[in-house]
Amino acid sequence: MTQMQNVVMSETKSEVVAQNKPQQGGGYISISRNILKNLEINGGEGQRVVNGLIESMRASSPTHTSLSQDQTSWILHHPSALDMFDQIMEASRGKQIVMFLDYDGTLSPIVEDPDRAYMSNSMRKTLRKLARSFPTAIVTGRCKDKVYNFVRLEELYYAGSHGLDIKGPSRSSKYIKNRKAETLIFQPASQFLPMIDEAYQKLVDETKSIPGSLVENNKFCVSVHFRCVDEKKWSELAHQVKSVLKNYPKLRLTQGRKVLEIRPNIKWDKGTALEFLLESLGLANCNDFFPIYIGDDQSDEDAFKKLRDRGQGCGILVSKFPKKTSASYSLQEPNEVMDFLQRLVEWKKVSMRARPWMLMCT
Ligand SMILES: [Mg+2]
Repeated sequence: MTQMQNVVMSETKSEVVAQNKPQQGGGYISISRNILKNLEINGGEGQRVVNGLIESMRASSPTHTSLSQDQTSWILHHPSALDMFDQIMEASRGKQIVMFLDYDGTLSPIVEDPDRAYMSNSMRKTLRKLARSFPTAIVTGRCKDKVYNFVRLEELYYAGSHGLDIKGPSRSSKYIKNRKAETLIFQPASQFLPMIDEAYQKLVDETKSIPGSLVENNKFCVSVHFRCVDEKKWSELAHQVKSVLKNYPKLRLTQGRKVLEIRPNIKWDKGTALEFLLESLGLANCNDFFPIYIGDDQSDEDAFKKLRDRGQGCGILVSKFPKKTSASYSLQEPNEVMDFLQRLVEWKKVSMRARPWMLMCT
């Protein structure tokens, strides 16, 4: 059994990286801070790490609310973005709103087959109007091309693979300061592609004995979905994933809603992708913009935290259940996200009528 050598805090508060001895093949496992409390930091065993991972797999996908008292208290701290719409708009007064949206669980419902996570036509129409009103980006763990096939709107920015694969609008965007610029393309981890392809294949081979498991190649990250796996098999699956990853010290493991994600062990996440996109829009160093980030998953916390640290804009968590989050507000499900986006579009229209000089700012 592999002995844990040490535990290193990563840049993000939401995860901790447990590093194995290099002579034993290296390997990294990311686990939540809550789970860390249950682990022995020095001299803990590999089994304990896997147990922690399994607990984290359960905790990352709550399916029931605990006490209604907890829910009430949570809502007080993270009120509905629909109820707080006027206050949010007031906070954005005089600033350019910039929209960042996760895809799965935010714009589309979570479904058993990730290849069928279709977005409704009404959501697509709303997104199109939104992108005409504000610079808008999709920031997802999915492969960029796959999410584009779901969304099919050229007007948007797409940041796939947790921001490791970024592409700007194909059509010239009115929001790009340098309009002569070519379409924005940014891939900070392209050297990892052969390694990720290899790890993907090994994960497919290793996990094929687990009914319901599904390994998805998202180009710059690999997703091991366990939403259709019997909970009794989660331990076996976690062991299998860990056994593959011990041979890839340059890859790290994180978990989201019913998914384990393997990505390059570099300091790049949805938060840094958000900053990069703001920079691309020429907004990174000014204060006259108001980013709104909406997402439902653990990986979105990096972006929520980035906004909190910068003291700009706001994060909105999509969740029906209380969850620890750096987001300021909440929405319960994709239908509420659509309502919120429609209100934003309406608000912009009314603002334009009231203050046509705002056209000069956009
Ligand atoms: Mg999501």
